[in-house]
Order: sequence, then C-alpha cells, then structure tokens
Amino acid sequence: MASQGIVEEFLSLKSDTDADVLTMQCGDFYEFFADDAELVASELDLKVSQKSSHGSSYPMAGVPVDDLTPYLKALVERGYRVAVADQFEDGGGDHYREITRVVTPGTLLETDDADARYIAAVVGDSDEGSDGSGRGTATDGIGLAFADATTGQFLVTVADTADDALSELYRFDPVEILPGPDTRGDDELVRRLRGETDGTVSLFEADAFAPGRAKHALREQFGDETLDSVGLDTEPAIRAAGAVLRYVEETGAGVLPSMTRLRAFETSDHLELDATTQRNLELTETMQGGRDGTLVDTIDHTVTSPGGRLLREWVTRPRRDRGELTRRLDCVQALAAGALARERVREALDGGYDLERLAARAASGSADATDLLAIRETLAILPDVADAIEGSPLADSPLSAVVDRPDRAAAADLREELETALADDPPKTVTQGGLFRRGYDDELDDLLERHAEASEWIDTLAERETRQHGLSHVTVDRNKTDGYYIQIGKSVADEVPAHYREIKTLKNSKRFVTDELEEREREILRLEDARGDLEYDLFCDLRDRVGVHAGLLQDVGRALAEVDALASLATHAAGNDWTRPELTEPGPLRIEAGRHPVVEGTTEFVPNDLRMGGADGSAGDGAGAVASADRDFLIVTGPNMSGKSTYMRQAALITLLAQIGSFVPARAATVGIVDGIYTRVGALDELAQGRSTFMVEMQELSNILHSATSESLVVLDEVGRGTATYDGISIAWAATEYLSSAQAATPSPKVLFATHYHELTTLAEHIDGVENVHVAVDESGDEVTFLRTVRDGPADRSYGVHVAELAGVPDPVVSRAREVLRKLRGDEAIDIRGSGDASDGDDTHQVVFDVDSGEFRTEASADGGETSRGGATEQSRGPEESGGEPQTDPAIESVLDELRSVDVDETPPVELMGKVLEWQEELGEDEG
Ligand code: ADP
Ligand code: MG
Repeated sequence: MASQGIVEEFLSLKSDTDADVLTMQCGDFYEFFADDAELVASELDLKVSQKSSHGSSYPMAGVPVDDLTPYLKALVERGYRVAVADQFEDGGGDHYREITRVVTPGTLLETDDADARYIAAVVGDSDEGSDGSGRGTATDGIGLAFADATTGQFLVTVADTADDALSELYRFDPVEILPGPDTRGDDELVRRLRGETDGTVSLFEADAFAPGRAKHALREQFGDETLDSVGLDTEPAIRAAGAVLRYVEETGAGVLPSMTRLRAFETSDHLELDATTQRNLELTETMQGGRDGTLVDTIDHTVTSPGGRLLREWVTRPRRDRGELTRRLDCVQALAAGALARERVREALDGGYDLERLAARAASGSADATDLLAIRETLAILPDVADAIEGSPLADSPLSAVVDRPDRAAAADLREELETALADDPPKTVTQGGLFRRGYDDELDDLLERHAEASEWIDTLAERETRQHGLSHVTVDRNKTDGYYIQIGKSVADEVPAHYREIKTLKNSKRFVTDELEEREREILRLEDARGDLEYDLFCDLRDRVGVHAGLLQDVGRALAEVDALASLATHAAGNDWTRPELTEPGPLRIEAGRHPVVEGTTEFVPNDLRMGGADGSAGDGAGAVASADRDFLIVTGPNMSGKSTYMRQAALITLLAQIGSFVPARAATVGIVDGIYTRVGALDELAQGRSTFMVEMQELSNILHSATSESLVVLDEVGRGTATYDGISIAWAATEYLSSAQAATPSPKVLFATHYHELTTLAEHIDGVENVHVAVDESGDEVTFLRTVRDGPADRSYGVHVAELAGVPDPVVSRAREVLRKLRGDEAIDIRGSGDASDGDDTHQVVFDVDSGEFRTEASADGGETSRGGATEQSRGPEESGGEPQTDPAIESVLDELRSVDVDETPPVELMGKVLEWQEELGEDEG
C-alpha cells in the first residue's frame, strides 16, 4: 500500500527541485526512477529494473543507503546536480520523504582530494543590477565571493574590470560558479568563465543576489560589526557574498556554522597575475594540462594536505607586502639553516589530519567518531610542533609566533575533553556503542557495569549448569534467530533438568532455554539498546561542542598548514642550493647565477645573470654602447632553442618566488617588489598547441599595455610572430616604444622581450633604457654549440640553418641553404631586381629599414651607400630583417617571404628539402 505511490511521490519531488537528478530513500535503498533511472544506468552502470505503479511501469535503479556517496561523487563529477530525498516517519508510522540536500560540485563534502573546493559568486557591474535604482554601476566594480564549504574559508573582494575578475577566478579555480543575475546576460563573461575555469556554472535564484537579502544573510552569519570591520561596503561584493551564503544554506550541506569568518581582501594586496600569465608560467598546471613539471609540483615538500593547499594558495597569490614577505623569509631562513630542527618539526607535523575539513564536518553534524579522533590527534600535534620550535634555534624566528597565534589553551582543553571522552579505537557507526571511555559519563558507566554483570552471568552459565546438574558437553551461545541458548551434546541431551525447554534439534546436539536465561537475555538487550541510545546522545553533544569550536580548529589547522608550507619552502631551498632574495621596494631586479626553478631539476642547467631596472651606471662589458640610467627594457635575441624563453621565465619565476616568501634559485638575488607580472607568448608558439589566435595575442598585448605600471614585470616572448613579418615587426616596434620610457610620460615597467626580429635590436641605440642581451653560441667552423649563457649586446646572426643541421636535415640541403643565406645576407641590403630582367641592371632597388622612422624604404641603388646605416645595424642583421616591399618581381618576393616565415624547428627535414628545391626552381638561375 505504502509503496503504491512511491513513483508519484518521486515525480512530485522531482518537479519541485531544479536539480538534474533526484534520488529518494526507500528503506535501505536510495532509488532513482523514470528518466533519472535511465540516466544513472547509462552514466554509472547501474542495473535497471521495472517498477509498476498505478498501472504504468517505470524504470528503477537503486543503491544501498550506505553506498550512496561514491555514486553522488561520480554524478557530481560528471556535472550533475543531485537532489537527495531522505525518508522520515510521521507520528502514525507512515513514511514520507523530503529533499534534504542538493549536492553540487561546490557542496560535495565527501571529498578526499586535498585541493580547495571553492564556490564563487560573480556579481557584475551592469547598471540594470539589483534594485533597479541604477546603482551598481561600473564604478562599483565586480563583486567576487569565494566560499569553500569543505573548509569554511570565505573570502570577498571587488575587481575593477572583467579581466581582473577572471584573474581572481583563475587563481581560486572554483569548482562551481554562480553568476549574478546581471552577469548572466553578459555572454562574453560567461563564455570566458566557462572557457578559462573548470568550474560548473550554476544559475542560482536571482533573489539571493538582491542587495537587501544578501546583506541580511551576511548579518545573520557574521553579525553587524563584521561587515563594518572588514570594510565590506561595496554593493557587488555584498551581493556576491550573500548569494554564496544562501546557496550553501539552500543546498542543505549544513556547513554554515563552519563559515566563522569573512575575509575581505583587496585585489591589490596580491601580485597581479592574469590568467594567461598563470598558465604561461606553469604555476599549478602545465600548458598540456598536467601537474607534473609545474612550479608547485616542483617545490611542494609538504607533509600534510592542508600544507600543500596553502602552498598552492601562496603560489597563485603572491604578495606585495614587504613586511609579510620578510616574515616568511625569516622563517624559511631559520628552517633552512637548521636541518635538524626542521626535520623534527616536519616529523611532528606528519600524520596530522585536515582540521579545516574536519571542523566543517563537526559543524555540519556529519563527523563520525573517527573524525573526532582525528581532530583529537591533530590538536595534539600543535604542542609537539611548538616544542620542536621552542627547544631549537627556530625559537628566535617568527615561526614561534605562528604556532602561538591560535588559542593554545583552548585547543588544549578541547583536546583534553576528547581525550577523556573517546575510546582509542571507536567504531565507524555512532549508534552501536563502544565510542566512549569508562569514566566519561556516570550513567554510561552504570549501564556498562550492569551489562558486564549480565554478560558475566552468561559466560559462567555453562560451567554452573555442568556442575549443578551433572551435565557434560554444555555450551552457551547466542545467535540471531535463537537468541541465547544452552546447547547440549545429543548423547546426554535426555538428562537435562525439567525446567529446560527444548527449542531446536541439530544433528549432534539440542538447544534449550530456561526462564532465567530468557530473563537475562532481555536485560542484556535492554542494556545494549540503552547504551546505544545514550552513546549516540553523548556523541551528538560532544560533536556539537566540537562544532562550536570550528573557528579554533580552523586557526590551529591554518597554523599547522603554515608551518608545513614554510618548512616545505625551506626543504626545497636547502636541497637545491637556493638563496634568500633581498627585497627592495620598488627596485631593480638583479640575479646572479640564476636558474630556472623547474628546468634546473631536469637538466644540467647553465646559470645566468640578469640585471635590470634601477639606476646603475655600470653597463656591462663592452656592449653598453649607450650608457643607460635604467636598463628597464631588455631585448633578448639568440637562435631558436638557445634558451630565450627559459631565461625570461626564470626571471619571472624568481620574482614570483621572492614574493611568496621563498628562497630563489640563484647565487644571489635582489628583487624589487613588483605589483604584477604579465607574460605573453607569441601566437605562433601557442598556435602550434591550438590555443590561441593572433587576435587573442593582440588582445592580451593590449591588456598588458593598459595594465602594466612602472612597478610591473612584463615578459613578451616573440610577440608579433603570429602575423606577417612586417606587421609583426611594426607591432613589436611600437609596443617597445610604448612600454619603454621613450614615449610614456610615466616611468616604464621592467620588460624582457625575446624576439627573432633583429631589426628591434637597433632600438637599444635609440631609446633610453632599452638594452640588448643575447644568448651566446659557440660557432667553431660549422658546428654550433648553444652555450646557454646570456651576454650583453644583440645576437648577430640567426642560426636557423645550424639548427636545421642539428636536426638532421640532409647535408646537401644544409649546404645549399647556407649558400642561399649567404647570397641573401650579403654585406649590404638585399638587391632586388626590377622589371623581371635577369641582369644586374640599373633598376636595382634596395630595401632599407629606417630605424629613425621605424619604417621600410625602397630606394634606387644609387643611394644605397647612404641609406645603409651605421655599423651596428649591419652587424645585427640577420636574414629576416633585410627585406622590403618589392616594387617588382613577385616571384622573388614570394620565395623570400617563405624563406623568412619557414619555421625550421617545426618543419620536417623532408619538407624543408622540398621547399629549398622549390625555391631553387622559382629563382631559376641560381643553379649553384
Ligand atoms: P628559445 O626560447 O630560445 O627557443 P628555450 O628557452 O625554449 O629556447 O630553450 C630551449 C631548450 O634549452 C629547452 O629545452 C631548455 O630546457 C633548454 N635550456 C634553456 N636554457 C637553459 C640553460 N640555461 N641551461 C640548460 N638548458 C637550458
Ligand atoms: Mg622561445
């Protein structure tokens, strides 16, 4: 009868929720019906049966109640929002069901993954916002709130622009994103949200974003004063934060009590790192999308998952505050120097559990006895770590303050309480007893004592019966169907006393009960029930008391995580010969014998110096033709594969490491604190990976030109490469001028610019602060060795042909290419024949790149001597720069164009050979 309407009940609940899938408890199973059954059957390989109801037949699939979690996880990971309806009993013994939770990526609490799981709300700055008053205009910025339901972290900020908002989102890498009602209409932003983060985009009810409701939600959670004290007064931020709270509440995860604190931060507290830069520098994810070979992966030696989580947070959110960085560096220095103390600290930390996560589970009432035990054990680690610090040279470092930050006395009390309460090996289920120690609760002790007495009576029964009645072969035991019984061997079964009642005959024995035994049995069952109930109540009380201390647990967890992260930085520094950077604010970047933090671990790395920014008269050996006050802009040239990109990334990563408070891979380093790092890799490199278009390259360049300040570090790697040569040179040229102080009234950022356009190296002579450096190669005879050493001055040649040789291009092609190259290069600018005539006639034209105008000029050869500029121009000339718009002969021009654009690294040798043959044919007379 009751099951009659189950499918109808299911369908009606389903129509009330906006979740994608519903599962409903029916006794010992969670069932899926109808479409949902089909869906889970195909997604999760569940078996489908048929269920008939009111004359119709419905597909049905189910999982045992205790097994739901893995299915929930799997569905959520596949992007479904799953509503869970639990079964309740009304007064009359009938069952009904209600949706108790909606499980989404952000509210899936059952995770064993160490990563943070942020839910982010994004409230845009469109003016049709909120209350229709036209407030919430662009000046208010974009409100961002980040809540991690698994740890109770809650952060709020305001971003000025959509790009800033995306950078923040990329840093937090939320698993779920709630765009506000006005943001949803912004297709571009939503598209980018979907494209640049992995988070599921969920559309939450618009009401929750309304300013009034949002504010109310925040007040209820954190109190009035908090909003004022954290300075949360911008409407978009309030709306975002309020909406996240409501979302967590309404999905029923029950973790609101663990959200004890609201932290508002300024995006300017942190280094500006746009999404492209974070990807480019491979901080937490490589270009290919993996974790191996990322910066975090390389430097992470943490021993606990919260430590690893914090380290990752540091890497994605470097700081600008010199005080904070100095504090971290002091800790790292002390830990790096004291290997013994460091190992003691790390040993003490090892085995600690994730207190932030456990706090959330205690607060939400989902913690079991094992969880409380884990809390107890981890709380005990704090004094151990403190001891390891106090009795060592670390005591004088700011590390002592880190472990003193949480309320140690309160933590000790809580641990003490758990110590006296919990048994050492409690069962997983909380309703069957065995959770508590003797002496914790008088009533429980009393029950246990009576239980022990009754058990003792039973345990000794067999012996008593044997003695009193002269029986043999007597055992007393208990099973599910028969309860307690006395079992007598068949041979003597006839001799039992009269008050024995036979209940069962087995092959070799008979089972009996007596009134007294039944009486004792009832008592034992009563006591066991009472004990289970009492322990459950006691456990819930204890769990609630622990839940109340969620904030304390988070503090302790955070302190331990910080010690772990700092010890990890120290471990890496000590093991890899890293050095403490000297921080200046603002100031030059000076790196002596620097290495790339990741590459040095995989190759024999050749260290390099870098010197930029800051008033520094000494302009290097010989090459410093123009004395530069600033040396803010370095043009990096060198052959393909010589190490340009590595050199520049190394500079960016060393700066970044310094700004998380880490030592750096160098013999010595002075790092001027920067406000942002911007990198852009030319579209060609990225195009090869199908990631980018020239349009995107230019958008990002534009973003850099807009955002970089005099305190930023900019890394441009082959920018302008994704288009035709002259476009590329022109754009790169103009960007260089713009970023260098040449045109800007304001001081320029520090810029590293790798280019294969040798034309650009002449900029150094014309713009103050722009200097050339190049990656040196050793060329003895026709052999080329990459020295990987960076020296002042421009590279003087392009080594494409040598690289082709190294790559195994057949000898005839290589020597022919050399010949063509020699011809093309000549000592002067290239000759271009006019009018298709094969003779070296009078109408020869020269194409000259004019460094003053930044343009190409084609002139008659009569003027050639004069238009050819000074020696430096000649020397720095590779094959690429000596060209121009042909007035005539398109055949030659097209060969030249192809020759210029061919990427020797990317083209297979056979194809190269084919190309060279083609060119020979096209050039006709060049038979050799
Ligand atoms: P480019 O940008 O000039 O084409 P890359 O920076 O991509 O060159 O480097 C090419 C290769 O050389 C990479 O495999 C890199 O690991 C290696 N490399 C770069 N710099 C060094 C160095 N200083 N020491 C050793 N190997 C290096
Ligand atoms: Mg490169």
